[in-house]
Amino acid sequence: MFPSAEAGDIPNSHSIPSNAPEHCPGTESELAGKADACQGCPNQEICASSKPNGPDPALPYIHERMTSVKRKIVVLSGKGGVGKSTFAAQLAWAFAADEQLQTGLMDVDICGPSVPTILGIASEQIHSSSAGWSPVYVQDNLGVMSVGFMLPSSRDAVMWRGPKKNGLIAQFLKDVDWGDLDYLVIDTPPGTSDEHLSIVQYLKESGIDGAVLITTPQEVALQDVRREIDFCRKVGLRILGVVENMSGFVCPSCKSESQIFRPTTGGAERLAKETGIELLGKVPLDPRIGRSADYGLSFLDEYPDSPASASYLEIIDKIKYILGDK
Ligand code: SF4
Repeated sequence: MFPSAEAGDIPNSHSIPSNAPEHCPGTESELAGKADACQGCPNQEICASSKPNGPDPALPYIHERMTSVKRKIVVLSGKGGVGKSTFAAQLAWAFAADEQLQTGLMDVDICGPSVPTILGIASEQIHSSSAGWSPVYVQDNLGVMSVGFMLPSSRDAVMWRGPKKNGLIAQFLKDVDWGDLDYLVIDTPPGTSDEHLSIVQYLKESGIDGAVLITTPQEVALQDVRREIDFCRKVGLRILGVVENMSGFVCPSCKSESQIFRPTTGGAERLAKETGIELLGKVPLDPRIGRSADYGLSFLDEYPDSPASASYLEIIDKIKYILGDK
């Protein structure tokens, strides 16, 4: 059985100067001088200009492990509370609805892992074998890996510095025995932080097939998505498209539709036009989505007649089409 995450179990060879800010990735990290935490650090110039001590030793192992993963899709959001993890879970469930496809869902939202709860497997723990860490299986063709499995309780806070988070992400990528996967969906924390840079750098050689951006219709959420688009363009991450979540409310009883989060500035539709990215679709609010997530149920299986299910399926079809899988 995998040990709990409290005891400093992630090896860390990176050094942190005493005047470094709290989330310093370590001066020997590939992110030294470039991470969010480095902005304004007195050592930034030195760290950014020093030559790295060669490539990260984890890279060849990650590359080897990822050769058996056909598609890697990253799910991003500019801010929290827009339904990113719920979308990532529905996407994984929808891929796994085809029994011929093997799907993995990796939760790298290290400080707020909600995927185990959404999938109804919060009480499970990770087991290891000679082949690596075994994912927790929701069904035969859907495996999940999350730091949530390593916490003694869902109430425990994860307070890790950058190097430890990066170390765990590297371990998730090189040590998890996914087997042959058709799709690996990666749920990330909100914003553009060290976890995002780590994922992009560790998977640079293996290749990420693209990112799906999740937003709500309000301008405050769209502003953060613009930053997310800028991040993707700066690091060379292909954007598959944007999804507008909580886009109108459909009453489950009377089926009438109302706007809860009014798109005062044109919503994701206008943003997509302005930035030239694809609008994958709009998912209306349905209170049963939250209820399904609380009980670890697949919303698509439970409520196939909901307009939200129709939107999810349309979006997933579009993603497959963009990837050339349909
Ligand atoms: S610049 Fe970044 S890596 Fe260097 S000491 Fe500061 S926070 Fe750490």
